[in-house]
Amino acid sequence: MALYDIIIVGAGPAGLTAALYARRAGKTVLLIEKETFGGQITLSPHVENYPFARPMSGSELAQVLVDQAMNLGAEVEVDAVNSVSENANGTLTIKTDYSEFTCRALIIATGLKHRRLGVPNEDSFIGGGISFCAVCDGAFFKDRPVAVIGGGNTAVQDAIYLSKTCSKVYLIHRRSEFRAEKRVVDGLSACSNIELVLDSVVTECLGEHRLEGLRVQNKLSGDVRDIAIDGAFVAIGQEPNNAAFSELVKLDGSGFIIAGESCTTDRPNIFVAGDCRTKAVRQLVTAGADGGVAALAACSYIDAMGITA
Ligand code: NAP
Repeated sequence: MALYDIIIVGAGPAGLTAALYARRAGKTVLLIEKETFGGQITLSPHVENYPFARPMSGSELAQVLVDQAMNLGAEVEVDAVNSVSENANGTLTIKTDYSEFTCRALIIATGLKHRRLGVPNEDSFIGGGISFCAVCDGAFFKDRPVAVIGGGNTAVQDAIYLSKTCSKVYLIHRRSEFRAEKRVVDGLSACSNIELVLDSVVTECLGEHRLEGLRVQNKLSGDVRDIAIDGAFVAIGQEPNNAAFSELVKLDGSGFIIAGESCTTDRPNIFVAGDCRTKAVRQLVTAGADGGVAALAACSYIDAMGITA
């Protein structure tokens, strides 16, 4: 079994940046990603807050990062990590769905997964009207009514994006104020086919075989309303994806790996980068910064051990 200096789990901006730094430091690197190379940013229609890059779509930006890491010689596996165990000699064995790999240091950069509404019928309509990605699935609803649920940057951006192709967009948010940045919220005023449904929560998904509507309750008045739509885009934030590491490193009550700006964990050979760790600001730029910090910390650990794979 090949022994890598560093294995990075998760190929979002944090993991890809870690690969970039680790390869530049001459370490052998394997990136394991179970889904999308580029991570969550690939779902963003427009990124204009990443320094040094012109405004572009999230998928374009992700491709630049993927190319950078690959061109420097990072190896990749598309696979899901199930468990990690420590060997007697201090190396780590990573078991995946299809294989197992060994490394001297591990960087966890698993990011976040989409939060669900938690209402009846939701799961049965995923892929049948419920989506988590406006950029990926918006075209299926051309000239048809849709809803977006949430009040953050993702929800507001998605609503604006969908308003250009869909006949009508209901933006359903549980409060009267948006969490999204003012500059993003200001964009709503130019979209005449977006109806704001504020102070309201979805209580049920309606439909037989496909999604046909949402039952929505106003939290202030208690009024219940059924909104007929063909698609619903759930954009109510994300939660960490750290179940495979819960026996290995300390997690906080919400499932984030406990670590500070040093990106070190309570184990000397395990590091963490990006949105999956405890931190105040979860942005592309902080994920990238974490990737660099975690990789250099992992390189220092390996160099201090005096051995290379
Ligand atoms: P977010 O900022 O966490 O917002 C989640 C939204 O969903 C909030 O408005 C929240 O309501 C609502 N919500 C949470 N749980 C809910 C539930 N169970 N039912 C109904 N509503 C619920 O998530 P996000 O918009 O995905 O953004 C995540 C991060 O990525 C943020 O830091 C954001 O700034 C960043 N981002 C940046 C860009 C960019 O272009 N730069 C684009 C997208 C995202 P409350 O407001 O009431 O809590």
